[in-house]
Amino acid sequence: MSKRPEIYKSGFIALIGAPNVGKSTLLNRILGQKVSITSAKPQTTRNRILGVRHFPGGQMVFLDTPGIHVARSKLNRRLVTTAHSTLNEVDAVFWVVDACHAWGESEALILSLLERLTTPVFLCVNKIDLVDAQTVSRIKEEFAARRPFQAIAAVSALRGPGVEGLLKETEKVLAEGPPYFPQEMITDLSERFLAGEIVREKAMRLLGEEIPYAVAVTVEGFKEKPDGGMVVIQTTIHVERDSQKSIVIGKKGSMLKRIGTDARKDLEKLLGTRVYLELFVRVQDKWRQKDPLMDEFGY
Ligand code: GDP
Ligand code: MG
Repeated sequence: MSKRPEIYKSGFIALIGAPNVGKSTLLNRILGQKVSITSAKPQTTRNRILGVRHFPGGQMVFLDTPGIHVARSKLNRRLVTTAHSTLNEVDAVFWVVDACHAWGESEALILSLLERLTTPVFLCVNKIDLVDAQTVSRIKEEFAARRPFQAIAAVSALRGPGVEGLLKETEKVLAEGPPYFPQEMITDLSERFLAGEIVREKAMRLLGEEIPYAVAVTVEGFKEKPDGGMVVIQTTIHVERDSQKSIVIGKKGSMLKRIGTDARKDLEKLLGTRVYLELFVRVQDKWRQKDPLMDEFGY
């Protein structure tokens, strides 16, 4: 008698959580590659970033949702709407909280959002490398009392502990499904798109408090040299005001140079080749309030 073939399992999983709790870091850890940019500033993630984790007999497709928070500007409202609609489409939800301050305004909002969902929710208590075991147990108890969870996992997205265990638990809830993406594919984002994201990450990290939300990045050129030894990338950093442009450029171009150097190093790692990166800065008045412009930037 021949062995019955194992069924193939697949499903979509949304990463949800307040800004800065470590969603993007967790996604990168799960995928083993940088596909979602991270920074110490909240709201770095503006796009729904898709990544695929393959395991023997199946795959998990991840959506990195923007952080949920009280909507203020038009841009923020769009971000919240994106997160809402994501939750209704997925097979499981990873709710990430920060062990250093697990409960707050955002968590209360998320809890209420999840009330209407029947999707299994995994609570990921992240950054456990920063707190003691007692704190982790206390957080687990507090959250377990608030709603039922499929599982509660204590993880460190940055260092690794707990993440593989969480994925094993997740495999159990996946139903039979098709391989949505081919084996070798871990993200549907083009290298070109990722190049812009990396430049935006570096800009946001280096620019301090002054202009985090005013920065958007577009990629005008992405060409491999015919001999294959180098990729030439042209990007533009868009800001809203002349004063911001000066900050981005810095004294004698020093800031732009740092952004460029940091971004180039990451791009060379990502692409596995030498990179020639050209950076421009352009003032685009009030892009955040204009829908056509937001569409152009892909938000
Ligand atoms: P997101 O806004 O939820 O996507 O958060 P990010 O992934 O961008 O992470 C926000 C900040 O928290 C970054 O500075 C990360 O390096 C840091 N971080 C994320 N996970 C961990 C963790 O497990 N431990 C520690 N110590 N820091 C973390
Ligand atoms: Mg993020």
